[in-house]
Amino acid sequence: MNDVIERILVTEEEIITRSKELGAAITQDYRSAGITPVVVGLLKGSVPFLAEIMKHIDLDIEIDFMDVSSYDGAESVGDVKINKDLDKSVKGESILLVEDIVDTGRTLKEVKKLLLYKGAAEVKIVSLLDKPSRRVIEIQADYVGFEIPNEFVVGYGLDYDQKYRNLPYIGVLKPQVYENR
Ligand code: 5GP
Repeated sequence: MNDVIERILVTEEEIITRSKELGAAITQDYRSAGITPVVVGLLKGSVPFLAEIMKHIDLDIEIDFMDVSSYDGAESVGDVKINKDLDKSVKGESILLVEDIVDTGRTLKEVKKLLLYKGAAEVKIVSLLDKPSRRVIEIQADYVGFEIPNEFVVGYGLDYDQKYRNLPYIGVLKPQVYENR
């Protein structure tokens, strides 16, 4: 599997260390605001990051998952489709959305809009990665693990054609993998 990786951008150790820092910051911010958030993971990419960061959030959180699709292969395609909705109502809840990467910003904009429409009191975002150079929608995650350059990455939840999510690091996929498709 490693032979499709050009180079490693973020190691597993770096992700764990950063998740501890973000978890501590989130704990402090919500605690001082007197709020207990519902932590919502966007399937499937956020799963490894959510599993790591939730251990470092020292609050009585509940977790839930949503599955939306907006990405086909290596290019983003506008509107999101809801494949799996949340189990519980979000009315009046403060949501902490967990995402793998903010790229164009379209997915988060749509999901945030949807959650607020469903009555969420507030929606904050924590994303493992941020690719600010690709943004077409003005949206900023409240907590970001790592800013990365405009390269297609896989691992730690991020896929190419549903593969490589299980790599324990963030790596740049060799362009020939998607060019020779
Ligand atoms: P956005 O709506 O911000 O353009 O896209 C967000 C989604 O696009 C992410 O949740 C992720 O699934 C996908 N995505 C964006 N950039 C990358 C990337 O470099 N690698 C992979 N594997 N997925 C990406």
